[in-house]
Amino acid sequence: MKWEDNVRKVIPYVAGEQPDISDMVKLNTNENPYPPAPGVTDLAKEMDVEKLRLYPDTNAEPLVDVLSEYYGVAKNRIFVGVGSDDVLAMAFLTFFNSDKPILFPDVTYSFYDVWANLYRIPYKTVPLKDDWSIDADDYKVPNGGVIFPNPNAPTGLFEPLEKVEEIIKANPDVVVIVDEAYVDFGGESALSFTDKYENLLVVRTFSKSRSMAGLRIGFCIGSEKLIKYLNDAKYSVNSYTMNLPSQILGAEAVKDDRYFKETLSKIINTRERFKKELTRLGFTFPDSKSNFIFASHKTVDADHIYNELRKKNIFVRHWNKDRIANYLRITIGTDEEMDKVVKALEEILGC
Ligand SMILES: *Cc1c(COP(=O)(O)O)cnc(C)c1O
Repeated sequence: MKWEDNVRKVIPYVAGEQPDISDMVKLNTNENPYPPAPGVTDLAKEMDVEKLRLYPDTNAEPLVDVLSEYYGVAKNRIFVGVGSDDVLAMAFLTFFNSDKPILFPDVTYSFYDVWANLYRIPYKTVPLKDDWSIDADDYKVPNGGVIFPNPNAPTGLFEPLEKVEEIIKANPDVVVIVDEAYVDFGGESALSFTDKYENLLVVRTFSKSRSMAGLRIGFCIGSEKLIKYLNDAKYSVNSYTMNLPSQILGAEAVKDDRYFKETLSKIINTRERFKKELTRLGFTFPDSKSNFIFASHKTVDADHIYNELRKKNIFVRHWNKDRIANYLRITIGTDEEMDKVVKALEEILGC
């Protein structure tokens, strides 16, 4: 059909599956095993549904106010979106408009090349070193922009801020985006660099550390200028991206810092305990500072382990891709869930 010649054809991102089976252990999409803060539940019950008659605030003011106070940055340096995927997609559209390729690691969040293809942005993937770390020198070449997660996904590896700053410093003529989806689980944020570098955008999400993947809340912090450009693009697509319940419930979540820190430390403790078990079972993995572990077994194929775990209703993530085909990405759940994983792995591996 001729009309099909003019279709914008893309190969979409494939999200991890969302099975709904009783008694499953779902460790495939890095969700938080703990519920949102108690105040969020209370507020959701009391929500004034009549208000849904009206459009929400275009700038998600209730949420931006609370984020501004929490992170100590001016409101006009914060941009919110429908999950950080929305923020990132808008940032790609807004900032990556060069003829030169944007740069990101070869093993990284698999949405980056999808947005690049969608928006016809040239890109070049930069191989990570054998230990999965980034070589800052690789980013000191002419380019149209730089993006990488820190900690990286799916490796979980955290890059020290000195290296992050080295990359930012080497790229004053393009926008540099640091995707900090997992930074709350033990990394250090590049947020303070946004005071110093006008071209740095730091992106965050409520989906992992704040247990709110279902509400779709993401945000980024950068210079006033970057945020203004982002808003100009956003208001040219859809003025009302974030719905009212997300604005209000998201704000409530940020107010309960004690609960936030408590659940984070629980996940970190579980992760460290699970690392020891994995080592005992013969797995190797980069030292994760996120809420997942990227593990490879010394003798048994990842594909086999993945399928055997599935049979036991334990869902983890596996990609049939270059370099990572023999790895499983296992989200950190509760202690009880990880005990089940350990027991299942012992059965599968015969130990
Ligand atoms: C999960 C994830 C995101 C997106 O999360 P949202 O749910 O859209 O906020 C972005 N970047 C990385 C690296 C992720 O793992």
